[in-house]
Amino acid sequence: MLFLRGLYYRQGIKACRNLTFNNMKRAYLLLLSVVITSLVLDAQVKVVAHRGFWNTEGSDQNTLASFIKADSIGCYGSEIDVWLTTDDELVVNHDKKFHGLYMETAPFDKIRKIKLKNGEKIPTLDEYLAVVKEKPATRLVLEMKSLTDYSREDEACHKIAKLLTKYGVLDRTDIIVFSLNAAMTFKKIFPVGVKIFYLDGDLTPKKLRKLGLAGLDYSVKVLKKHPNWVKEAHEQGLEVNVWTVNTDEDMKYFIDLGVDYITTDHPDRLLKLMKDKK
Ligand code: MG
Repeated sequence: MLFLRGLYYRQGIKACRNLTFNNMKRAYLLLLSVVITSLVLDAQVKVVAHRGFWNTEGSDQNTLASFIKADSIGCYGSEIDVWLTTDDELVVNHDKKFHGLYMETAPFDKIRKIKLKNGEKIPTLDEYLAVVKEKPATRLVLEMKSLTDYSREDEACHKIAKLLTKYGVLDRTDIIVFSLNAAMTFKKIFPVGVKIFYLDGDLTPKKLRKLGLAGLDYSVKVLKKHPNWVKEAHEQGLEVNVWTVNTDEDMKYFIDLGVDYITTDHPDRLLKLMKDKK
């Protein structure tokens, strides 16, 4: 593709030098080809590091280091998981139960005592966003974990929105949720401008469009069962992310299927595979 773009460009410039009507027409068509091939190149799949780039030395899932490392290898985005603790602190961690503590019901000071593999403590969202703000090249993909009570979910949505606004990172944050309640609450807070993706895998692209969501963020299993949803989503003006894609075979499958984003535990490997594929 890069070769073709170069060839079209050189021939287009050559035709411009001798400005007869036919040459102008030829130059126009060749330069148009440059634009089209460039657009195709730019439309390549975007790499999202699942729970940050944690699969590397000095990192761990959902740590500050994992975002910095995702940024350092050129990921498009880096994903985190956010819980609201019983005493209203937003913390960044994946598991519902971690080191014997339930994220939703344990108090923050106990959660804070947990030491992660790379020596960090479980970060607050506030601390996390301070790092995100300093790394403007990488997009934040923020998963708000489902809570047992809808009113707690609504509180969490409002608190997250307030913090994203405080750090000025709304324009480079995508929100992903399993809970339809949380999706609709975020949609009310951000009627336009912030992309909200649905994770649960049970709604068709048409239904998601009717709900006003930006797209589907479905598992490998769901999208392999419904590969036609990728095309349908694009026809509905929606985007598609797939998680968690960890084998080369699946990476190639979803690139060829035309998804917009791939979320992986091996962003370094996916980036290399895409480079080699060009
Ligand atoms: Mg997640």
